[in-house]
Amino acid sequence: MKTRTKLVHGGTRRSQYGEVSEALFLTQGFVYETAEAAQARFIEAGEDEFIYARYGNPTVAMFEQRIAALEGAEDAFATASGMAAVSGALTALLRAGDHVVAARALFGSCLYVLEEVLTRFGVEVTFVDGTDLDQWRAAVRPGTRAVFFETVANPTLEVVDIAAVAGIAHDVGATVVVDNVFATPVYSDAIAQGADVVVYSATKHIDGQGRCLGGVVLGRREFIRKVLEPYLKHTGGALSPFNAWVMLKGLETIDLRVRAQAESAQVIAEALAGDARVRVIYPGLPEHPQHALAMRQMEQGGTVLALDIAGGQEAAFRFLNALEIVLISNNLGDAKSIVTHPATTTHQRLAEERRAALGITPGLVRFSVGLEDPEDLLADLRAALDAV
Ligand SMILES: *Cc1c(COP(=O)(O)O)cnc(C)c1O
Repeated sequence: MKTRTKLVHGGTRRSQYGEVSEALFLTQGFVYETAEAAQARFIEAGEDEFIYARYGNPTVAMFEQRIAALEGAEDAFATASGMAAVSGALTALLRAGDHVVAARALFGSCLYVLEEVLTRFGVEVTFVDGTDLDQWRAAVRPGTRAVFFETVANPTLEVVDIAAVAGIAHDVGATVVVDNVFATPVYSDAIAQGADVVVYSATKHIDGQGRCLGGVVLGRREFIRKVLEPYLKHTGGALSPFNAWVMLKGLETIDLRVRAQAESAQVIAEALAGDARVRVIYPGLPEHPQHALAMRQMEQGGTVLALDIAGGQEAAFRFLNALEIVLISNNLGDAKSIVTHPATTTHQRLAEERRAALGITPGLVRFSVGLEDPEDLLADLRAALDAV
């Protein structure tokens, strides 16, 4: 099956009623015919046998199988949020004494997990510039158990070469864990490019309409069932069946939505590129430092752009406050266009020098392009720049 067919039919489990739209099994538990059947299921549950919603649920399983089919992964485990997926994947894999190499440009909470949580349990973490392959080569060593990076960094939109970093990591036997949220499952074939474990915040493009939190970890069956599942099912990061149902239905339209949003992002980036009042950062523009890599690795520039407004925080705030259509919020991948000021929100926790080192300047605005007409969005952005 091709992608759009998989997105509509992949993973479907039809009940005895023959429903067309996937059923929402809003149940924590499952009834056993006999005590012996309960015992047998705890020893080994079959394909269509469930025990408890923290371990699995038919609606959650449909979501897991549909996204695994899209991603070309052997298996998947859904989680309560993107951060449950990131922290679950890393914590399940690592133990005291292990070494991790990670890209420095990360979403604030990913940085917290690597810097503050893993190190408390005796994991050593080395940060590198994710776009500099020499730094990855210098940082990995025998004993490096995992490398971690966002394939496109939030919010600075640096693009990391998945195949090249995977090659460096695999030479020392390290597992490659990538957060692929910005690339989205529509563009980036992270597994085909060498990633061992792919993590998504489903909250973003998979829901795509700003309703539910969710996440998913994808990889080889051995890793998902033997390493990740025991950890997650006992520590409680399970996805709610209701949220899984929303995500499952979100997958049906993700290819159409994300492609339309990325096309609008390209139009807007090109239209604003010559404007002296703003520096446009977008992987789809030829002047982006990793433009060629981005085109090779994900074919389109994605749905998010960064706008560095001349005049610093004061100008950025004036810009945000003048927008009429675009909303000030902190989600991304939504049908509604959203702007975020990372320095004072998602990356507020970091000291100013660290933000500067990451390229999170006081004037930087993250712009998640929605499904509105791009001409309306452009007019809104231009009017707000005039107001600055
Ligand atoms: C939003 C986001 C997360 C966290 O996802 P939640 O669903 O909010 O927990 C992780 N990584 C990246 C790159 C994100 O954008």
